[in-house]
Amino acid sequence: MSAPVTSSSADSRAEAIAPPGAHRIVIVGGGAGGLELATTLGNKYGKGQRAHVTLIDKTRSHIWKPKLHEIAAGSMDVGIHEVDFLAQSHWHRFAYRIGEMTGLDRTRREVQVAAFLDEEGRQVTPERVVPYDTLVICVGSQSNDFGTPGVTDYALKLESVADARRFNQRLVNACIRAHAQPGALEPHQLQVAIIGAGATGVELSAELHRTTREVVAYGLTRIDPDKDIRLNLIEAADRVLPALPPRLSSATLDLLTKLGVVVHTSAKVAEVLPRGVKLADGRVIPAELVVWAAGVKAPEFLKDIAGLETNRINQLVVRPTLQTTRDDDVFAFGDCAACPWIEGEGKGAKAGTVPPRAQAAHQQASHMVGQIKRRLANQPLRDYHYKDFGSLVSLGEFSTVGNMMGGLVGGSLMIEGTFARVMYQSLYKMHELALHGFTKVALETLARIITRRTEPHVKLH
Ligand SMILES: Cc1cc2nc3c(=O)[nH]c(=O)nc-3n(C[C@H](O)[C@H](O)[C@H](O)COP(=O)(O)OP(=O)(O)OC[C@H]3O[C@@H](n4cnc5c(N)ncnc54)[C@H](O)[C@@H]3O)c2cc1C
Repeated sequence: MSAPVTSSSADSRAEAIAPPGAHRIVIVGGGAGGLELATTLGNKYGKGQRAHVTLIDKTRSHIWKPKLHEIAAGSMDVGIHEVDFLAQSHWHRFAYRIGEMTGLDRTRREVQVAAFLDEEGRQVTPERVVPYDTLVICVGSQSNDFGTPGVTDYALKLESVADARRFNQRLVNACIRAHAQPGALEPHQLQVAIIGAGATGVELSAELHRTTREVVAYGLTRIDPDKDIRLNLIEAADRVLPALPPRLSSATLDLLTKLGVVVHTSAKVAEVLPRGVKLADGRVIPAELVVWAAGVKAPEFLKDIAGLETNRINQLVVRPTLQTTRDDDVFAFGDCAACPWIEGEGKGAKAGTVPPRAQAAHQQASHMVGQIKRRLANQPLRDYHYKDFGSLVSLGEFSTVGNMMGGLVGGSLMIEGTFARVMYQSLYKMHELALHGFTKVALETLARIITRRTEPHVKLH
């Protein structure tokens, strides 16, 4: 929880974190990209006096966002995958400061951070400013509802662990309510509408199919999942996974249909209602739970921040070096940056920019490590080139589908099944490796295999 920074009081709040003379690297956002960068730079420079690394994040811990739909469905134990920023900063020798970035003073080279309040509204840290020599902004994205009426009031979003837990709680409560009530189900009861059939919407549908059945199996005998629970997936484009090759869309549609998910394509949402979704053609899809999973934009506070160039979805426009177009000392990457992808024109990327994916944030974090090294050595910076290795979509225990890209397979190759699942898991493993190193990840994986410690079938929050 944050309170806005007022510039008058911010001046007296500058924090001297770095040792005198050290190059101050400040990273804002400890997500898929930012935490990897802070960890690697901390390992590299944390012991010496040459450079000092500070990570600012508005939350206390990190979860890899592609795991959120599993938390929402209740099939993932957050405790196993959550990374505590304070502990991570201690083990990897960077400084961590909690708080929400709200502004930037490029002349004084200071990041403005709001006061951090706890859940009861008590102040934990005051508003302050954090000085930098190199600033890296990687604050990710949030869902874009394009101003659709009713979304804020009636739809849930999947942007944070809190969102995912809230969804899970409502889902389980809906099942318990339906089981306990004396009368018949109302038309909207146990109906879920997921708006947006991109990877998130598709993965959530498949995951929910499984976990709703498991919740019901915990003794909610008055519910017949096949008859009573209905999952609607709504997509404005004419096919699911519109950003991926058509062959992949039709394979995914087949799998979803087999699971009983009702897919509505070419269906533009006009309004979200208290008990359903109204489409532009006038149809109403009844729903007790509505999830908005269509479109992303960068956070509002970035819009024209400190005179930096931003685009219509608030992304900071960067050069291929990942420097913002108007300030060599300010870098941005990941979902919040519009980074040119010249080779990507015509491959589904919007206006030739790198797509907002975990794979891109991971690559850019690695590139940023090299850029910082070159900057400290006064060497010219190098351009970043996005390598598209394809996309993978997990349909829970049913299947994993995807396409592989690149020279190795000579274009785009559709993959499915075990191989696709291993590839899907490898993206997260790479993230874990970047955060914890080979030994810890290998030992933990081994321990999980030996003790047969797996994720719970379904976790009720
Ligand atoms: C439900 C879901 C499923 C997804 N599935 C996939 C998938 O299967 N494959 C894939 O490639 N991609 C997937 N993505 C996209 C992927 O998660 C993002 O592309 C990736 O996380 C972007 O990384 P990032 O470092 O730019 O930002 P993020 O990982 O979003 O991290 C941003 C960080 O910045 C912090 N922050 C935000 N604002 C501020 C502020 N003002 N001040 C301080 N800190 C701030 C946040 O707390 C967060 O820690 C999914 C996304 C979601 C939401």
